[in-house]
Amino acid sequence: MQEKMNLLRDLQEIDQEISTIETTRSGYQQELSVFSEQAAEVQSMLDQLNSEIDQLHQDEAQIEQELLKQRDNVARVEARLPGIQTQKEYVAVLKEIDVAKKGNKDLEEQMQSKRKEIAILVEDQQEKQAHLDAITENARARGSELDQLLSEADSQLEKHTSNREKVAADVPKSLLRKYQGLFKRRNGMALAVARNGACLGCNMQLPPQLFNQLLQGADLQTCPHCNRILYVEVEA
Ligand SMILES: [Zn+2]
Repeated sequence: MQEKMNLLRDLQEIDQEISTIETTRSGYQQELSVFSEQAAEVQSMLDQLNSEIDQLHQDEAQIEQELLKQRDNVARVEARLPGIQTQKEYVAVLKEIDVAKKGNKDLEEQMQSKRKEIAILVEDQQEKQAHLDAITENARARGSELDQLLSEADSQLEKHTSNREKVAADVPKSLLRKYQGLFKRRNGMALAVARNGACLGCNMQLPPQLFNQLLQGADLQTCPHCNRILYVEVEA
């Protein structure tokens, strides 16, 4: 019986080690995925900004085109002035020029306001780009550390897993199943020390008869309160 308990204690130690490594390992992976989530988020904001800036540039170019056309028109109409014969026609042409110039002023203002919008977005774009560069740089530096840590964790896991298989092979199947079920349910503590008549897994008193049987080491005993497999520590 003592031998089986020693195997189980070895097994639990290895299993706890494995579970610690697995937790650490998923922490590393979590950290890596946070980097790529952050980068993707900033990248999508940048894409959005870039397409808005593109659109504004197109608008600006269109307005500029229109403005050039209208300035040509004004020049053409102004060129007619010296050849005009009647006062009436002269007034009409001056009015035409005046309206066209006001229109051009509107176009100029529209173009200025597009340029201002573009400047604001470009500033935002530069900030986002710097942010993305920082994330990428962090991800690169920490990422290679994390890759290293992950591969160390993998090789440790491999070592412990093969060790575990060897120990588990010597534990009777039904006992192994019982132990594994408890290990899961009891959060990595399938075994508990019994001391001074109590289970240290749940700190409840054990029936005296059960404790005595445990001391005699004849049979495997489980705590009637928490179900953990009990053992007594043998004095060194
Ligand atoms: Zn207990």
